[in-house]
Amino acid sequence: MMAAIQAAEGGGRITVFEHNPIVGRKLLVTGSSRCNLTNDAVDATAYYCEDQAWMESFLGTFGVEEFRRALDRLGIPTQKTEDGWYYPRSESAQAVVEILGEELAKRGIELRVATHVISFAKKDKGFEIESTALGSHRNEIFDLLVIGAGGKAYPELGSRGELFGALENLGHHVQALLPALGAIFADLGAFKELKGQRFDVLASIWHDQERLGQTTGNIIINQGGFNGPGVMNLSHLVALRPDANLTLRLNFIAPFWSDLADILTGQVAHPRSLRAGLLRYFTPKAADFFIRQAGLNPEFKLNALSEEQIRLLLEVTAEAKFHVSGAGSFRNSQVSVGGVPVGEVDPLSMESRLVPGLYLVGETLDVAGPCGGFNLHFAFGSGYLAGTHLAGLQKQKSKERT
Ligand SMILES: Cc1cc2nc3c(=O)[nH]c(=O)nc-3n(C[C@H](O)[C@H](O)[C@H](O)COP(=O)(O)OP(=O)(O)OC[C@H]3O[C@@H](n4cnc5c(N)ncnc54)[C@H](O)[C@@H]3O)c2cc1C
Repeated sequence: MMAAIQAAEGGGRITVFEHNPIVGRKLLVTGSSRCNLTNDAVDATAYYCEDQAWMESFLGTFGVEEFRRALDRLGIPTQKTEDGWYYPRSESAQAVVEILGEELAKRGIELRVATHVISFAKKDKGFEIESTALGSHRNEIFDLLVIGAGGKAYPELGSRGELFGALENLGHHVQALLPALGAIFADLGAFKELKGQRFDVLASIWHDQERLGQTTGNIIINQGGFNGPGVMNLSHLVALRPDANLTLRLNFIAPFWSDLADILTGQVAHPRSLRAGLLRYFTPKAADFFIRQAGLNPEFKLNALSEEQIRLLLEVTAEAKFHVSGAGSFRNSQVSVGGVPVGEVDPLSMESRLVPGLYLVGETLDVAGPCGGFNLHFAFGSGYLAGTHLAGLQKQKSKERT
């Protein structure tokens, strides 16, 4: 949508193909329907992308401010949370989709919804698109082609990786696709009791003694493991190693460790019980669970625990270990890792370096970010740059004609 809107500035004829009955179906569910668009922490190092220099080039052209300005121009002002996550001022993904839809219409862009693109191929005079809608087949030629068909995550919402084959036929490589930003399944043991509870944690994934990755964030304990940003950012590490013996370590007290440490060491007076101390940070259910697991008495004075008692408390609250049994599948993961290597497109225009006139944007490329707006930043940004480049070409063409 962003590519089409930008490209329309050049005045050419533009057609958008979408096999869902509406455009922006996935966008509607982003950020719990609030649409988390970008993040102050957007930076090349935050992305899972094999070519950091490429990513730096892209973000150097389309950073957070460029994105916010582009959204402003479309009538989508943004606001940010205390931790730097940007949302539309309306806090409504539906509002964003409606504004983009209106913009497509206003710019005379032809929208072909409920139209499945079967394939595409390069011809002498452009690209042949083979599509089907309501049982009727069409083959049409277009001068230029932007592929923004997503990856393979959440196929129910439209992206099923069906067009990667056509890209391979044109000479592009496709890195194997894996689900990312999904749940981590693990043997919960006694933690089953805390099903439904949420925590802010420091989470890490270990393969024997090697730490594969670490992140902080909110998690929820569910039936077979964990979900939420605090583990989702690590799920691709699990998906990459289906047969490895992996451990998930959770530190439940990391976010307020300095506060708790001051109390435990007596630097801050807290003459109340261990239970009251833990209720500073946890629900009664979680506090009672941790005390029971540590084998301590809830009435112990928090600032008078022995070294051994502190060790027992930290073992369950700061060093909880879980044997990992798997990661969420494409069906319920937010993005996929893999796709066309970024080195095969120009970072400033998204034009293919192998097939002139072909542009690849969004999750079709091998770029994935953590939770927090990083993926929409890339999807919108790459669409914006492709569209801007196309508008430039069109303007040049019109000038040459006159
Ligand atoms: C539940 C959920 C929540 C998320 N929340 C956030 C968030 O808050 N912030 C964030 O940054 N990211 C979030 N993401 C990730 C983000 O939505 C994606 O990274 C982003 O939408 C990718 O954009 P895209 O345009 O590349 O692909 P998509 O959004 O997948 O769009 C591709 C479109 O192409 C269409 N299509 C595919 N193949 C064909 C075909 N053959 N013919 C016709 N049409 C086709 C699809 O129907 C789809 O509409 C979330 C994802 C999910 C699933």
